[in-house]
Amino acid sequence: MFKLSATKILHRGCDPKFDEETNRRILVMNLFSLVGFSITLILGLSAMAAAAWLLGASLLVASFLFMLSGQIQAHYRNKYGQVIAIYVLTSCLMMLETFLIVTGGVNNTGPLWIYILPPVAMFFGGFKRGIIIMTCFTLLIAIILLFPNDALLFTEYDHAFKTRLIYSFITVSFLSAFYEYSRQRTYKMMRTISEQFEQQALHDPLTNLPNRRGINQLLVHELKRHQRSGKPMTLVIADVDHFKQINDTYGHAHGDIVLERTSSLLRQNIRQQDMVSRWGGEEFLIILPETTESDGVYLANKLRVTLSKTSFWLNDVEVTITASFGVCEINENVSLDQALTLADNALYEAKHLGRNTVVSKQ
Ligand code: GH3
Ligand code: MG
Ligand code: MG
Repeated sequence: MFKLSATKILHRGCDPKFDEETNRRILVMNLFSLVGFSITLILGLSAMAAAAWLLGASLLVASFLFMLSGQIQAHYRNKYGQVIAIYVLTSCLMMLETFLIVTGGVNNTGPLWIYILPPVAMFFGGFKRGIIIMTCFTLLIAIILLFPNDALLFTEYDHAFKTRLIYSFITVSFLSAFYEYSRQRTYKMMRTISEQFEQQALHDPLTNLPNRRGINQLLVHELKRHQRSGKPMTLVIADVDHFKQINDTYGHAHGDIVLERTSSLLRQNIRQQDMVSRWGGEEFLIILPETTESDGVYLANKLRVTLSKTSFWLNDVEVTITASFGVCEINENVSLDQALTLADNALYEAKHLGRNTVVSKQ
């Protein structure tokens, strides 16, 4: 029960539509604001009990701000909510650290806590926001520490201590910024590489069309849309006729050229919302959303005629090819798998009818 509600609190504001990096940051921010809220609340209440009013009030304000940052993030699940939460949380931390510098904390050890800020600001805010936060805080502590006659301090520090504190803080800030910058770059590079791998895994290198895996993903997506809208959807399988002869006569490399041009031709002659993929060797699967079977047959015939009238020049020889087409509509009586089988059967029939033909199967 406790574990469940703790997990719930820590995941507040996370959303599957955010990327992994954003969700991880939200989770750590929730943890940070929860811990900050609890500690400052306990310390604030005990300071109040000891009649240390200024310290108590500051700690309670900080506690409220820690809680607020978590609430903002959970409530406004967008970029603005996250940015405001980051600024509230880091401002709260800056306020606490300023308080410790001004008062000196326990035996003047308060300033040591300022080194928490650079990694926290960089991790939550990212490189650019982190730089803004660090610059503001460096200016703030420099003014407080170096103000003439220690007018802004409730305690006394040695001059050498003050300057070393500022220099070392700038050094830690610089190192944190550098670390965050290289981390972000590496992350971006990894994402680009993984996107490239994904693109390669889902596409056929010869024609650059989606391969079987790629089109299966698009099919699932399109099928959900079709089920929601209730609009018809049609599948067409096209297979180049006697393609083996092209390879045997002109060589495999020229066969590749024919496949490449055929795929371009198919792509150019369908609507923007239609999708064509390389289903197998010389087979192409075309998805036609919002299309009835008869409209699918019409389009398949248009493709068939265009293909048969197109000349391919191989070794200075004019070559023409034809293709056969199987068409099937997906509807409440025909599932995706059934439609694929029926379209394949229709294609088989088209081959038997003498090729260069379109057959539909319902
Ligand atoms: P059908 O009219 O019955 O479809 O006859 P077909 O010759 O087109 O069919 P078959 O299945 O006998 O042969 C298909 C050929 O396609 C055989 C295979 O070598 C060739 N092929 C498959 N993938 C590629 C490829 O990527 N490049 C080339 N050049 N040829 C390929
Ligand atoms: Mg063939
Ligand atoms: Mg084939």
